[in-house]
Amino acid sequence: MRIVSLAGGIGGARFLRGLLSAAPGAEITVIGNTGDDITLFGLRVCPDLDTVMYTLGGGINEEQGWGRAAETFTVKAELAAYGMEPQWFGLGDRDFATHVIRTQMLAAGYPLSQVTEALCDRWRPGVRLLPMSDDRAETHVVITDAEGRRAVHFQEWWVRLRASVPAERILLVGAEEAKPAPGVLEAIEAADVVILPPSNPVVSIGTILQIPGIRPALEAKTVVGVSPIIGGAPVRGMADACLTAIGVETSAQGVLDLYGSALLDGWLVAEEDAEVSLAGVRVAARPLLMSSPEATRELAAAALALAVELS
Ligand code: GDP
Ligand code: CA
Repeated sequence: MRIVSLAGGIGGARFLRGLLSAAPGAEITVIGNTGDDITLFGLRVCPDLDTVMYTLGGGINEEQGWGRAAETFTVKAELAAYGMEPQWFGLGDRDFATHVIRTQMLAAGYPLSQVTEALCDRWRPGVRLLPMSDDRAETHVVITDAEGRRAVHFQEWWVRLRASVPAERILLVGAEEAKPAPGVLEAIEAADVVILPPSNPVVSIGTILQIPGIRPALEAKTVVGVSPIIGGAPVRGMADACLTAIGVETSAQGVLDLYGSALLDGWLVAEEDAEVSLAGVRVAARPLLMSSPEATRELAAAALALAVELS
């Protein structure tokens, strides 16, 4: 069986671990969000691709959900001692090596998709990990604070400001000109089913869907999504701040309406959200908390079973 999954960071990566365990024989292609990517200290950082790669490759900091296990922060402290900005983004010593290699390969002319493949040679994530695009398309957020009304990089709003300043607009700069990375449309075309994990519906899944060509390709497929919202709240993180910014209610119904029936065939919600509905979409209630590897495998198995049933 061929499965395509879109993924942001932590929520997506954890779900994918469950999917690998629920479908050991499947050929899984993951289309990763690169809208969060940022250049720091001259290095290209791809937080969501790395979270997927480290999580599936066994190198993740399990408690935190991002960054490397057994990490130290000597380089960060040395940069800070020079007064180098920004100091609000946590890059660990082990993690730095990934960004040095990525930056060196990009400078040598390799596209991000080939760089990602090279990095995955070490991590063996068990899936084919593709960036949504080799082109630069970065999420920016329009805010008004003491410095006035301005657009800041998504990471500055999310990490430095902890989304505490309301987002007036969230936009993917460069989206119109970006092309899907090599292999993305081919993988969707060849897929038996597509699964949308509980990733951020605005700045992870929503970003991938904005790359021209990806949404129409997905609409031709059997797609099952897992709600990232349970009982009106994001399970963890600040997805509600992103949904509010685009005028969508933070609810399983709100995200279902946002994705829409052209994209979705099935939608998994928590028991307490069992009443949500949309014509043309099969809604099923399941335990949605990825509270243990077993619970996550069960959730992934349920999403896959629904997709197979609907295909
Ligand atoms: P991020 O980089 O941390 O934002 O990771 P993602 O982009 O993958 O999004 C995480 C999203 O998944 C958050 O918006 C949460 O609402 C959702 N989430 C996190 N843990 C769970 C869980 O156990 N179950 C479900 N259904 N959703 C979750
Ligand atoms: Ca993310």
